Amino acid sequence: MTDPSSLTPEERKASLDAIAAEIARCTKCVLHRSRTHTVPGDGPANAEIMFIGEGPGFHEDQQGLPFVGASGKYLEELLAAIGLSRREVFITNVVKCRPPQNRDPLPGEVEVCTKTYLERQIALLNPKIIVTLGRYSMGLFFPDGKITRIHGQPKRQGGRIYYPLYHPAAVLRSPDLRPVMDADMKRIIDLLQEARQAEQQPPDDEPPPPADERPVQLSLF
Ligand code: URA
Repeated sequence: MTDPSSLTPEERKASLDAIAAEIARCTKCVLHRSRTHTVPGDGPANAEIMFIGEGPGFHEDQQGLPFVGASGKYLEELLAAIGLSRREVFITNVVKCRPPQNRDPLPGEVEVCTKTYLERQIALLNPKIIVTLGRYSMGLFFPDGKITRIHGQPKRQGGRIYYPLYHPAAVLRSPDLRPVMDADMKRIIDLLQEARQAEQQPPDDEPPPPADERPVQLSLF
């Protein structure tokens, strides 16, 4: 695969669209049998933040778009509260087809779908921050994590920030979690600033520029 960092924004979008087209034809697991539409993900190809939920529900399956039901409405409110809109972020799921009766996705379904599609979407988008929503996406990046213990605690790895949050549906079911979710969401803005600043810094081990590219030292005498 071409190095995603060398792609133009148009090429990156075309590649994401090509993955979405592959997903639309996918028959790699049983979830394809009961789906109405695949739900590859939605958002700009230059998004700095990627949100990863669990899997499409009824409304997502009907519309082919992620987080368009009650959880999605709440996610949009959470984003608006920190000055973001869903048009600025990329939103996707661990599995791209609705599990029947909204059951939890099975390990084999998660494995094949993430290896075949999610990992390529992440590589192409190369987001500065990956926000996981709920246990299933958290499990991909924090295999030993427990959501009640690690929500709101960012992990910095390989030049990217991984940030685990509760799933919006869990917060809708347990309103006591709302203040916690509000506080965790607020931190995203600071994390984004941190990630942008880190991008401006040369890596620690970068060699000094060749002598003829160094700024000229003006002598005082
Ligand atoms: N819940 C999810 O995890 N994803 C969606 O897209 C909708 C609800």
